[in-house]
Amino acid sequence: MMFFPTLGLIATTDIISVDIHETVEVALDTMRRHNHRSIVVQNGTLFYIITTKDMITLKMDGVAFSTPLSQIPLRILPLIDKESSVISALNLTNEMDEHICVCNEDGTLYGLITNSDIISSVDPQIIMESLQIGTIFDKKYGFKSCPPDEQMHEILLHLKDAPNDCVIVLEENLPVGILTSKDLLGLISEVACGSRKVSEVMSSPIETMNIKDSISDALLFIKARHYKRIVVVDDTGCVMGIVTQQDLISRTYLKWSQLVNEHFHQFEELTQILQQRNRHLTTLATKDALTGVHNRHLFTELFDKELSSMVRYKTRLALIMMDLDFFKRVNDTYGHNIGDYVLKTAAHIVKTAVRECDLLARWGGEEFVLLLPNSGCQEAYMAAEKIRKALEAFCFDEVGQVTCSLGITEVVAGDTLESAIDRADAALYRAKGSGRNQTITCETRL
Ligand code: GH3
Ligand code: MG
Ligand code: MG
Repeated sequence: MMFFPTLGLIATTDIISVDIHETVEVALDTMRRHNHRSIVVQNGTLFYIITTKDMITLKMDGVAFSTPLSQIPLRILPLIDKESSVISALNLTNEMDEHICVCNEDGTLYGLITNSDIISSVDPQIIMESLQIGTIFDKKYGFKSCPPDEQMHEILLHLKDAPNDCVIVLEENLPVGILTSKDLLGLISEVACGSRKVSEVMSSPIETMNIKDSISDALLFIKARHYKRIVVVDDTGCVMGIVTQQDLISRTYLKWSQLVNEHFHQFEELTQILQQRNRHLTTLATKDALTGVHNRHLFTELFDKELSSMVRYKTRLALIMMDLDFFKRVNDTYGHNIGDYVLKTAAHIVKTAVRECDLLARWGGEEFVLLLPNSGCQEAYMAAEKIRKALEAFCFDEVGQVTCSLGITEVVAGDTLESAIDRADAALYRAKGSGRNQTITCETRL
């Protein structure tokens, strides 16, 4: 019994694929016919994936749908054998919804799995649900059985000394009824009870569970019916034994703690991977993916902190808003990829031009904001000019010179991020209006 499931057990096998030599149109058609959000693109033993989102991007980028898949940028999928444990797959990718290809031993495609699938598969509750009754079932745990036409006298004799208080009635090896102490209570007040037949007294039919049913199902079964025991059968219906409610609960916990001990190292590894993943997700949530500077969300939080500290320590705080000039032209002339390169590089230039303690964030598109602690308008003006000149002096590959305009304001007590941004934006707007590539300061009150 595998504690952590193998990937083969949890991967989605309901996948569709196309050959890399087919066109985008064929891929799209196949997705539509199967009503699937993603399709695997196969190139020999390599696999790629296209999702609906990618299709939209292709459409918006004006890519002709008659283009062969081999000519469009495709994301290659990490590959892993279907017999591998979930833990080895966790190391393959960091993104929660990124797909991993699960393959057969011979390298052919078996299924797909995402990180979220993997993490939910190691949830203790889910592990419990997949643990079968058989794993806590002790075959030595004997049970008494008898045929339906047995005389009750024999049964009463047996029960007098037996440790357990029930008898399973078997007919051709299959369970047809059960005699429990409750059934016997009504019987023993009769004088001639010993001559009765078992079939007249037993409870029937008998409800059983399969040895492969899960422990959590067994617990639910007992709870719903107020039973004290479960008769467990194998696939052919033959009785394997009896599990009482007490057994089920105490052995389940025993098994659980055993598993935790046995798999201690796997748990440790799992914890480490998950902690690392959390750190990664935190970075994702606070960092702008393209430029690597803070994102707007984090900036909003940092602004509030800096504002309270400014008020409390009676220091000064300045805000700079910066926007690249004619950036649309860069994109239109050189394409989006070059545009991205300019943005990334510009962010780096700004970051290098300012102090370590100044907070830089991407506000959106090609706009950046900077928060300068311990600075008034004059200091901010010097910083802004330093940025402006550094950018102006830089020669971008292919593009050449790119300039920017900057608006400055001093943040004062009573400001909100919105009110301060409004003023910096108004100054920036004036800088644009008066010819760009310059810095303008806004009065503190609009
Ligand atoms: P202005 O001097 O008035 O600021 O002109 P502009 O062309 O820079 O201003 P506008 O706001 O009209 O255009 C900004 C452009 O920035 C439009 C958009 O295509 C581009 N842009 C926004 N975000 C990104 C991005 O992440 N990557 C790339 N490559 N371009 C982006
Ligand atoms: Mg611009
Ligand atoms: Mg803009």
